[in-house]
Amino acid sequence: MAEEKTMKEIVSLLKRRGFVYPSSEIYGGFGASYDYGPLGVEMINNIKNLWRADVIRAHTQVVEADGAIILNPRTWEASGHLGSGFADSLVECQQCHHRFKEEEIKDQQCPDCGGKTTEPRSYNLMMKTFVGPVENTQSQAYLRPETCQSIFLNFRLVTDSMRMKLPFGVAQIGKSFRNEINPKNFLYRQREFEQMEMEWFTPEAEAKEWFEYWKERRLQWYLDLGLKKENLRLYEVPADELAHYARRAVDVEYKFPFGWHEIEGIHNRGDFDLSNHSRHSGRELKYSDADYPEPFYPHVIETSAGVGRLMLAFICDAYQKISGGRDQESQRSEEVVMQLSPKLAPVEVAVFPLMKKPELVAKAKEVFEQLKFSFRVQYDETGSIGRRYRRQDEIGTYLSVTIDFDSLKQQDVTVRDRISMKQVRVEIKNLPSALKQFLTKGSFNEG
Ligand code: ATP
Repeated sequence: MAEEKTMKEIVSLLKRRGFVYPSSEIYGGFGASYDYGPLGVEMINNIKNLWRADVIRAHTQVVEADGAIILNPRTWEASGHLGSGFADSLVECQQCHHRFKEEEIKDQQCPDCGGKTTEPRSYNLMMKTFVGPVENTQSQAYLRPETCQSIFLNFRLVTDSMRMKLPFGVAQIGKSFRNEINPKNFLYRQREFEQMEMEWFTPEAEAKEWFEYWKERRLQWYLDLGLKKENLRLYEVPADELAHYARRAVDVEYKFPFGWHEIEGIHNRGDFDLSNHSRHSGRELKYSDADYPEPFYPHVIETSAGVGRLMLAFICDAYQKISGGRDQESQRSEEVVMQLSPKLAPVEVAVFPLMKKPELVAKAKEVFEQLKFSFRVQYDETGSIGRRYRRQDEIGTYLSVTIDFDSLKQQDVTVRDRISMKQVRVEIKNLPSALKQFLTKGSFNEG
C-alpha cells in the first residue's frame, strides 16, 4: 500500500528530524497525543502567525482573544455539547474489543478482525475534569471541545470595551480536547489539539455574502502557501450531516495520502450561540447601535481549522522523493526533499563552513551572528557538505549559505536554493538584503 508507506515515511522523518514525537514515548506513548519538537514548534508558530496575518491583521475589524480552557459547565448546556449534539455512536468488536465510530463499520463487522460488533451506544466526546478538591457532580467541569465558546460568552465585553461595530470578528488560537473514539492518522485526529477559529458577527441580511467571502479567502490562503490546487477542494456539507449549531457548512478538504479529508470548516452558525447563551445565562447578548432600529442577535460566520491537521497537510504536500542523488556527493539512490514554502519552513537559511577548519568556522559563525535576528537560521558544521545539504532539504530549508576559502579572501559566500540547487556568490555585506529578496521571490529561477 503506497499511501501507508508514505505516511509511515513521513511520521518517521518528522520524528527523526525533531518535528513531532509521540507523547510520553518512554512510557509507551499515550492516547494519540503528540509533542512538537523544536522544528515542529517553529513550523506551527509560522502557521499561526501566517493565519494571524491574513485573518486578523489584514482585517482591521478582527481582534484576537484568548479565553480559558475550562469554562463554567453551564456553557456546554447552552451550546448543546452536553446533549446529543456532541455525541458519537460507539460500537465495540466482541472479539478483539477494538472500538469504532458506528459510521466506520458495515454490517456489524469489525474492520480489524471481522468479528461481530455490539449495538451502538451514544458517547459524549467532551473530556471531564473536576475543579477544586472535592470530586462530585458539583465540581465536575469539561475541557473545551472547541475554542469559540468563550468568544460568545464575552461578546458583550469585547463589543463594549473595544467599541466594536458590526460587522466584526473575534479570533482565537488555543487548545481543544475531544475524547475521540478512534484517533488515527497521526496529527489528523488527536484527542488534544490546537484550533485557530474566527467568529465573524454580522447582521443576518449580510451573513450569506460574508460566508462566501470567508470561504474564498480561506481557500486562497492555502493556495498562497503552496498547497497544490489539485489536492484542495471545497465540500458542501449536506443538511443531514450538519453540526447541531450550523445552518450551512463548507469544508476545505485536502487530499491526504489516506484520502480526502476536512482541514477547515466554514460554518454559518446563525444566532444559535448568542441567543442560547442569553437564554441560559439571563444576560442579554443582543447587539445595538444607532444604525439599527432595535437590538438584535448578530449572525455568526465561523472559520475553524486545526493547527496540527494543517501542518500535516502542508508536510504531505511538500514531501517529495527524488530518485538518484541531487548533489554530486550523494551516493544515495533516493533523496527526500520537503518543498515547503519558505514562509512555513522551520529554517529559512542554513549556514555552513565548507569544512571544520578554524578560520572557516570563525567566519561562518560571524555570518550566522549577522543573520540570526533577521531570519530563522541554523548553523551546522558536522558531516560532509553534501550531507548537510540533504539534511536541510529534508526539513524544508530554502537557502543554504556556505563559507569557503574564497570567502576569507573575497568576503563573499555561496548561496544555494533548494528548488533549483543553483548557486550564486553574494558579498557578505549584502547578504541580509539578498537573502530577503531570494526568500520573497521563492526561487532564483524566477529572476
Ligand atoms: P471531523 O469530522 O474531522 O472530526 P469536525 O467536523 O468535528 O471534524 P470541527 O468541529 O468543524 O471538526 O473542527 C474544526 C477543525 O478543527 C477541523 O477542520 C480540524 O482541522 C480541527 N479538528 C477537529 N477535530 C480534530 C482532532 N480530533 N484532531 C485534530 N484536529 C481536529
